[in-house]
Amino acid sequence: MSGAGGEGPRAGAAGPRVGAVGPRSGAEGTRAGADASRSAETAERDELFAQLRAYEGRAAATAGRGKDPVNEPMIRHWCEAVGDASPAYRGPDAVAPPTMLQAWTMGGLSGHTDGTGRSAAYDEMFALLDGAGYTSVVATDCEQEYLRPLRPGDRITFDTVIESVSPRKTTKLGTGYFVTTRTDVRADGEPAGTHRFRILKYRPAQRTEAPESARRPRPVINRDNSGFWAGVAEHRLLIQRCTDCATLRLPWLPGCNACGGAEWDTVEAGGAGTVFSHVVMHHPSFPAFAPDGDGGPYAVALVELAEGVRIVSNVIGVPYDKVRVGMPVHLEFLRTDPDLELPVFRASEGG
Ligand code: ZN
Repeated sequence: MSGAGGEGPRAGAAGPRVGAVGPRSGAEGTRAGADASRSAETAERDELFAQLRAYEGRAAATAGRGKDPVNEPMIRHWCEAVGDASPAYRGPDAVAPPTMLQAWTMGGLSGHTDGTGRSAAYDEMFALLDGAGYTSVVATDCEQEYLRPLRPGDRITFDTVIESVSPRKTTKLGTGYFVTTRTDVRADGEPAGTHRFRILKYRPAQRTEAPESARRPRPVINRDNSGFWAGVAEHRLLIQRCTDCATLRLPWLPGCNACGGAEWDTVEAGGAGTVFSHVVMHHPSFPAFAPDGDGGPYAVALVELAEGVRIVSNVIGVPYDKVRVGMPVHLEFLRTDPDLELPVFRASEGG
């Protein structure tokens, strides 16, 4: 926020208000006569767009100052993070990676606290979008132009302007407006580069997946694990056994982790096990996983079979908060919906 305080109507530049468009034209707007009738037509189609367009050219941030001068530690961290080992960014003649342009203008977690952050106009435009239901935001792309290299010691200043607002567009995410801001970055007062940043401010598309969400996800069955699922269909929990070294493995894998052997046969689990570890899922809610389908919390357990291998599954027959490490359990097969049966474990004691 700039220091203007309050949120009353902004005087803006000089703008006479365009009646058809409603209050808040703000910017330079002198649309009259024939223009006004065209704009009335536009207004009927998309009054919000006309309001938004009035913000084009207005400041999004003014007289910004980089919190730190261009400096070697930041350059080193950046290069390590992105894996750029170029010698150009090290040593006495080092320059900063050009793509760091925006980094020098960022406010960090605490933001720009010296009044140089987002302008009231920018906040106002966002409020207009939020108020019209375009509440979500996603960054879509950025473009940079470099005018001069940045070197340690350069002091950064910048100005950001709302460059353009697109007409309303519908994307996979939803319907909204692309807003492009342009930041002109200076180093010790000289133009150093331009950073254009585009976001989509949108109203999320309605999802229509209710019937699907009530079912558990389908297992992915492939050549490496189809035998396991064939066993489940016959109510048998099959453990793979390496025929070279006899190591048991679950879940199924194409090869033996102990000896590398590719040959295997199977052993049928006897069904006895104990809870080796467990977590309770509270959020997000997946009703299909809850024992009574109410979406409430449910226990996910790592069960150690008597044969020594472990399997992730559900413990049934006790409340989720009675599951405990070391609890004896035994195998059952649970039909979760008409197309899916899964191995689960019933607590052998009351909990
Ligand atoms: Zn082996």
